[in-house]
Parts: sequence; C-alpha cells; structure tokens
Amino acid sequence: MKRSILIHPDPRLKKACAPVTDITDDMAKLADDMLETMYDAPGIGLAAPQVGVLSRLIVLDCVKEEGAAPRPTVMFNPEITAASDETSVYEEGCLSIPDQYAEVTRPAEVEVTWIDRDGNSQKATFDKLWATCVQHEIDHLDGKLFIDYLKPLKRQLITRKMQKLKREMARA
Ligand SMILES: [Zn+2]
Repeated sequence: MKRSILIHPDPRLKKACAPVTDITDDMAKLADDMLETMYDAPGIGLAAPQVGVLSRLIVLDCVKEEGAAPRPTVMFNPEITAASDETSVYEEGCLSIPDQYAEVTRPAEVEVTWIDRDGNSQKATFDKLWATCVQHEIDHLDGKLFIDYLKPLKRQLITRKMQKLKREMARA
C-alpha cells in the first residue's frame, strides 16, 4: 500500500527517530509500503519519518542502469561505522522537497551496519550513488535534510518555495 510523503517543512521531518527493537509484521509491512511508495514516486531512497513514522527504518534502491535487476534494500537501525576521508559531490534531491536539487559533499565511501527485513545483521561498504543515498537517508533518521548542508540563504529560499507549494496543495 502506497503511503503519502510528508513535504518539508514539517516538524516530523526534524525529529530524531527511535530504534526499532522488534521487526513486527507491522514493521515489515511498513518497509514493503515504503519500497512501493519509493518506486512509485519515483525515488531511490525513503526514510520512515518521510511517511510520518518516527522509527529508524530506511529503504533504498540505487540501481539506475536500464534493464538491470532492481535491488530493493531495507535497513532497520542503519549505522555508519566507517567513512572515507575522500569525498564526492552529488546533486541531491529529496521526495520531501520536490523538484529542488543542490550539490552536497559527503564521504565517498561508507561502511554501514543494519538489520535486514528478516532480522539478520548485515554489514556492507557502499560507494558512488549508494554511499550518498544511504547517508542522505540515515540523516533523515536524525531529523536532518540535505538542505541543512546548504548556505542559510539557499536553504531559506527552498523552504519558502516548499511553503508555497504546500499552500497550493492544500487549496487544490
Ligand atoms: Zn530525503
């Protein structure tokens, strides 16, 4: 089932999320719904607070090559355990900040641990787009958005655009 995505600014997007202590059927269902919502948007990552659930859960799939097999990835309690000194710059966007893009510098490679949908501990190293995406999504779990990396003026400009968009959506 598709869920609706919160649009910035929203207080729920600024909160630190709680760890998931037990992967209940509801939590597994939420992960499935988030993947469906992400693919439908379409996007390459989605965090639980973006659908109004303040739990440490993200989903991602950064496979972009035409015809390549999808790689739906579900992470409960993801944690960055190591990051490279080398950085990379990507033009980032966010499903909670539609149609706004800006370059963000982040570590080029990160090691991440998490619990998968079946409750197993996982550890992997991510690079390229996957590295940027997983860091962007984990930021969401700490109430941080990609625009928080931008200069205040640029951030305010984007926030005002989003406020206007929300007013228009409320009227529609
Ligand atoms: Zn985002």
